[in-house]
Amino acid sequence: MIGNHEKPTKRPKGGERPFPWPCRHCGKLEVVMGVARYDAEIQHDGRIHSFTIPELHLPICRACGEKVFTEKMDGQIGAALRAHLHLLSPKEIRAGLERLNMTQEEAADRLGIAEATLSHWLTDTQLQSRALDNLLRVFFAIPEVRAVLHGEPRPAA
Ligand SMILES: [Zn+2]
Repeated sequence: MIGNHEKPTKRPKGGERPFPWPCRHCGKLEVVMGVARYDAEIQHDGRIHSFTIPELHLPICRACGEKVFTEKMDGQIGAALRAHLHLLSPKEIRAGLERLNMTQEEAADRLGIAEATLSHWLTDTQLQSRALDNLLRVFFAIPEVRAVLHGEPRPAA
């Protein structure tokens, strides 16, 4: 590594400070990484979904039990929501594209979605709606569906 990329004027982000952290609730220096059961209520597709994540990894105060929520939990919660809703995972979507030997651009075009949207699903930054998950499933499984969905006519190059 060359150079020092640390910016001493900026506070490090929540999840990157070394443990233990001081507890906001009791003030003790007892916050360390732990595991807790978490009852999630998350809005997706215009509905509130309630489900339990049996093992959420998060910082917890050893003294008073206060839980600290950081952005790092978003991935765990998103994955749990996807499993709860039985939505295709990024890995499954990627495998579907590879099986069809189809680029993201072509698939997005045929599905009638923005390439950025497909990219968000593949990088796990957004969860697809149930309706679009259904569309992906039939698109990957049924050749006739793909034949019907030609996509927008492309301008001649
Ligand atoms: Zn505490």
